[in-house]
Amino acid sequence: MSDGQHSYYEFWKETVSRIKQTLPQQEYHTWFNRLSYLRSEKGKVILGGASQFILDTVITRYRDLLVNTLSELTGEEIGVEFEVASRDVLEMDSGTTAGEDAQAPQKVEVKRSVSAQKSARLRAESNLNPSYEFSSFVLGDNSAFAYNASLAIAKNPGVSYNPCLIYGGVGLGKTHLLSSIGNYILENTPELKVMYVTAEMFTNEFIESIGSQKTQHFKNKFRKVDVLLIDDIHFLQGKDSTQEELFHTFNNLYDAKKQMVFTCDRPISELKNITDRLSSRFERGLNVDLQPPNYETRMAILKKKLDARGSSMSEEILNYIATNVVTNVRDLESSLTKLVAYSELLNMEVSFDKAKELLGVLPAHAANANQTLSIDTIIKVVAQYFNISTFEIKGKKKNKSIVQPRQIAMYLARDITDFSTTEIGTEFGGRDHTTVMHSFDRIEALMKADEAFTNTVMKLKRDLTTIKS
Ligand code: ADP
Ligand code: MG
Repeated sequence: MSDGQHSYYEFWKETVSRIKQTLPQQEYHTWFNRLSYLRSEKGKVILGGASQFILDTVITRYRDLLVNTLSELTGEEIGVEFEVASRDVLEMDSGTTAGEDAQAPQKVEVKRSVSAQKSARLRAESNLNPSYEFSSFVLGDNSAFAYNASLAIAKNPGVSYNPCLIYGGVGLGKTHLLSSIGNYILENTPELKVMYVTAEMFTNEFIESIGSQKTQHFKNKFRKVDVLLIDDIHFLQGKDSTQEELFHTFNNLYDAKKQMVFTCDRPISELKNITDRLSSRFERGLNVDLQPPNYETRMAILKKKLDARGSSMSEEILNYIATNVVTNVRDLESSLTKLVAYSELLNMEVSFDKAKELLGVLPAHAANANQTLSIDTIIKVVAQYFNISTFEIKGKKKNKSIVQPRQIAMYLARDITDFSTTEIGTEFGGRDHTTVMHSFDRIEALMKADEAFTNTVMKLKRDLTTIKS
């Protein structure tokens, strides 16, 4: 593609090939296969991406890298600009979509003529719970990535992120997002056949089909869908023949460019007893995580849920819930339900004291989790994870295999509990509070630099915050 004297096309190709060598393969494919050279102007290169979501991510993560590499190669200062470009324009530049396995776009022609009857049948067959929609999902920093990816998939199934995996702890909105994708597609692209199942349903149906000698029927059922949504795939751990069946279903749908989205309660790398070939399929596409919401998001969720019920509650009580229920959205909801039910039954407003009393007696309630989660428990969980003893964590040994777990445990104690750094230091074999602070900073820095390390710390944090008092 020549555009006169300022063409930086060759430099762009070289830039991409250099970046490819430095990034993990999956990361490269996720972002650079969706980015394309459009044209050059004096001192700048204009790149195109299929959606603003892709561009936003590329800009945040790679703009500096692109500018630096281009400038270094050309010996000039080169700026980079981004535009949302239609798929057709992007396809023309196959030289720089550059992906060996960039997928051909699936042309989705919306036929508005699908009859109401047929769409009702498709809805029924989809297994979807219609109450989960994007519009009722409250966005926060913890969920923006997963939400945007889900919406992009819903708008363009089979095109951009296939497969996609959404992972995160219990009650953080995985089922909500997964179902929202399905409901959105049913609504907007009604000729596509959408199927939602939990991994458990998939397993049970598969077993049943063997018993009744209808495996072919089972295979056909799952291989003829356009969009397959499977919830909670961690359920498949140790279930070898179901994994095998899913592996073949996956390959079939993948080759046919059908959209698949999965959810899991942890990153794929932490699953046990899953065959490598299946886990590599899950990891192939985009993997996005859901984290617990922060205080502001918790408040926003509470308010939205109250609104949806047409109820109200004092700011003081909402603040109390948002401050104390920190585990996940499901626990937030159940606290709210409890108070709303009480107030509706007695037809009176709940006082702050009454609210505290009611929430205090919720059986598996996590309101006190953070106060009651002892530093000892944190030490124990971390020690167990790293296969060392709690004495070693509290002790004085300085080998790396012990120092790092020790620092992680201090980090988590400071992050999750309300104990002061002095109190934490004391529990860690009488260390000074500055040691705790130093460890915290050190772990934070490591997390910024290393994604795998971050995953480990986050996994431990999830495990700890789901320990009920
Ligand atoms: P998971 O599948 O991750 O265990 P769910 O999707 O079942 O979690 O979510 C638990 C409950 O919390 C559901 O009622 C869901 O609607 C609600 N929920 C989760 N995340 C959000 C959110 N960000 N905004 C609004 N509601 C949410
Ligand atoms: Mg779920």
